[in-house]
Amino acid sequence: FPADLVAGMLAGKRGVVVLERTDQPLAVDAPMLREIRAAMAKAVENGRALGGPVPHAGIPALRGDQVPDFFSGCFGLGSRDLQPGDLVAAVDNMLPGGAHRRQFYLGVEFVREGTRIPKLQIWQEKLLESYPHLKELSLARAEAPNLLPEGSTAVRIHSVGGWGAITMGKNLAMTAFELFGLQIKANPKYGSEKKGQPTTFYAVLAHDPILLNCELKHVDVVLSPDPNVFRHSDPLDGLADGGVFVIQSELAPEALWRSLPSRVRSAIRDRHIQLFVLDAFAIAREEASDVEMRYRMQGAAFLGAFFRTSSLITSEQSTEKKVFEGVRKQFQKKFGHRGETVVEDNLRVIRRGFDQVLAVKPIVVEEHDELGTVPRIPSLLDVPGAEDGIGNPGRFWEQVCTVCGLGQDGIADPFAAISAMPAATGAVRDMSGVRLEVPRFIAEKCTGCGQCWTQCPDSAIPGLVNSVEDLLSTAIAVSTNGMTFDRLKPVTKHWARETQRLLTKDPSLAVPAAFAAGYTAVADKMGWDAVRRAETDREFAVVRERLAAFPLARTKPFFDAVEAREKGGGGLLSIAVNPETCKGCNLCVAVCPDGALETIRQDETALLELRRNWALWEHLPDTADRFVNVSDVDEGIGVLSSLLLKKDSYRSMVGGDGACMGCGEKTAVHLIVSSIHASMQPRVAKHVAKLDGLIEGLDAQARELLASGADLDAAVKAKGSVAVPVDAAKQERLKRITDTLDDLRDLRWRYVEGPGGNGRASMGMANSTGCSSVWASTWPYNPYPFPWVNHLFQDSPSIAIGLFEAQMRKMADNVSAVRRAELLQQGAYDAATHEPLLRALTWQQFTDDEFALCPPIVSMGGDGAMLDIGFQNLSRLLASVKPIKVVVLDTQVYSNTGGQACTSGYTGQVADMAAYGK
Ligand code: SF4
Ligand code: SF4
Repeated sequence: FPADLVAGMLAGKRGVVVLERTDQPLAVDAPMLREIRAAMAKAVENGRALGGPVPHAGIPALRGDQVPDFFSGCFGLGSRDLQPGDLVAAVDNMLPGGAHRRQFYLGVEFVREGTRIPKLQIWQEKLLESYPHLKELSLARAEAPNLLPEGSTAVRIHSVGGWGAITMGKNLAMTAFELFGLQIKANPKYGSEKKGQPTTFYAVLAHDPILLNCELKHVDVVLSPDPNVFRHSDPLDGLADGGVFVIQSELAPEALWRSLPSRVRSAIRDRHIQLFVLDAFAIAREEASDVEMRYRMQGAAFLGAFFRTSSLITSEQSTEKKVFEGVRKQFQKKFGHRGETVVEDNLRVIRRGFDQVLAVKPIVVEEHDELGTVPRIPSLLDVPGAEDGIGNPGRFWEQVCTVCGLGQDGIADPFAAISAMPAATGAVRDMSGVRLEVPRFIAEKCTGCGQCWTQCPDSAIPGLVNSVEDLLSTAIAVSTNGMTFDRLKPVTKHWARETQRLLTKDPSLAVPAAFAAGYTAVADKMGWDAVRRAETDREFAVVRERLAAFPLARTKPFFDAVEAREKGGGGLLSIAVNPETCKGCNLCVAVCPDGALETIRQDETALLELRRNWALWEHLPDTADRFVNVSDVDEGIGVLSSLLLKKDSYRSMVGGDGACMGCGEKTAVHLIVSSIHASMQPRVAKHVAKLDGLIEGLDAQARELLASGADLDAAVKAKGSVAVPVDAAKQERLKRITDTLDDLRDLRWRYVEGPGGNGRASMGMANSTGCSSVWASTWPYNPYPFPWVNHLFQDSPSIAIGLFEAQMRKMADNVSAVRRAELLQQGAYDAATHEPLLRALTWQQFTDDEFALCPPIVSMGGDGAMLDIGFQNLSRLLASVKPIKVVVLDTQVYSNTGGQACTSGYTGQVADMAAYGK
């Protein structure tokens, strides 16, 4: 440590703030400040030498009053940016009139003042009651000065991964560099963009060097190829007064203006923002020779719009002609090797973007107050039995999700501090704002083959089979509409039976028509008077409307085949789409062999219908066992697809994560984890029943034992109570039984409820770093309803070994408790003989049934993590012969880092970064 230089530099200064990207809350100071103080202390010791030999040679001699006051700032927590406004606040803090806080955090809030999020308000009030000084831990960011060079142009792009935003941003910057000789800095907000996920890109063009190196808070131009941007972000944030905002839309300017939220219209008017609209999708669709390129080329149209709407051409005293020559040169250099067609397609798209971008003039529109809605916790996170504390999903929802859901940075919280999230938090994420298309079901074409729900990567299109009666009762239960359905409820059974009969009789009858005919047949038979008939008809109309759009099909495997086996047993298959998790990848449409799914644009009507159908789906009972485990493929759909008909198995991954849309890895992982879940659930149910039997038996045995010495005559005469003799042997035996009962009750509680409220998880997973760890843990969303951990790139097999051994230690305690209980119940227990064996029990001595109850530990990673850098860990696991399941997600390239060749790729295989094969 350069103690001599530091002491010399700081001598005589009045205040010094040391900013460190580290936090050691229990240390006396952060690490660098400790060093600096030590250097200054040595300098003071030298100063006390009073002309004699100094104790610390080379370090200046200082008086005590030459040592400055020190202030310590911690920044970068949770990867938050350090902004110029934070530096200003850190200096202001030291100045006369400043707060003079000696230790503080920058860039993170502990309390968000003035928040309008009700959940957060309540949470903060609770926190402040216990920790009144909480908000003083951080320094509020000062008004941020714009540190970009004078005359620079700062651009922000809001797009969706896979739509060519990064290419557009780079081309924009490179054209400015090559054509105008400008300094450029261009980068995406995060590293790799995930297909189908919102993405942000920044570019600065300037004549002078660009020294600022943080997220831009001042921009001059915002380009938004993402038409849904207002649903999840604030694209006007930081846009200069009078700045340019171009948004994708198929609407004409006036219609676009009317479609904007009222607060956005006000902001645009008040800040004199220049609003433009461009239908870049239409341009790309018409111009792309390759249909696959239509999304990517949309970005090129925005490049044209940028040159038209920004003042760059004028400020650089250039011309439209020169700019297009420069752009052509750029594209030829970049895409020339892909052929002239690609270059020409792009140039036409850019030209049309330039020509067809339209100015939107604010007009007077009747403004309505926009009512905010209080977000509701998703049912998967609403677990009433969950213990308080860091694993509580409700607390995570209130403290983190309600804030992140609005696109805001979260406040400081213990979850981020320990890098932990409760299970299945992906359930809070709503993808409706980032997709453009959704699948639509065509009931009459569906054969119930199961391909859609098996292959959807996002668990977004579950198949569910219900009896007609369950469907009608549920539709009645969710159709409130101010009615109590007192007339309709008593005839629901008859209505269902009649509908079932009609469906069986006429295979060509559509399900909605069968509901209507079934009702009419029952109503006609009832002999109601006209008033009652009219009242019941009114109730029926409401339920019919509720079911009209619900995606229901009568299919061979679930209706006809089951009816043939069991009259009246046939069920109707529903294919509802989860409006929150569907990413609009269209994979289900592509794999449906019968054309029973088609892609439609997601407009407000389509979204509302999805939401209504999903609300009904959430209330429907689970698929009954008689529809599951269909193993005869001629008769049914195969074991795997039918296992997924159970709601819990299907939701063994909940979606809402950060994976690309259509991610093939996720389909594979979903099938693996749902199979594990489906095999574990019946075993657990059987085991809980066994525990109940043991508890009941031992409890009776203990009571019998206790009463065994009672004097029956005395008991008959006794008033209120009777003494029961308990000798030492009996007491010991009673204690043994009650201790065992306690163990069994605790074990039962862990299986059915446990600290998380949902019972014991079906499995656990250790994940090596790679695509699968990135998409599964993009804060604050994870898709797994079981314990999951990620550690460095190559480590998952080693972590899995540790988890396995720890878990098996606990399982050995559980198995011992059950074996002990069985011995006690049989009267065969002998402490001297059995206890040493029970206490030393290891998993290697488990029976097959006992082992089958142990939730499997899975070690998962990509081909790079498992076969290349991590192979030594995997080989260690293989050599250990521990029964740990290993999943290698072999994509034959390093997908997360751009597509380098890897060991599992074929010789000669071309990858993005191995253009001539490996
Ligand atoms: S469009 Fe994609 S995400 Fe949506 S239901 Fe179909 S397969 Fe699943
Ligand atoms: S893939 Fe098509 S036919 Fe098969 S169950 Fe799904 S919607 Fe029906």
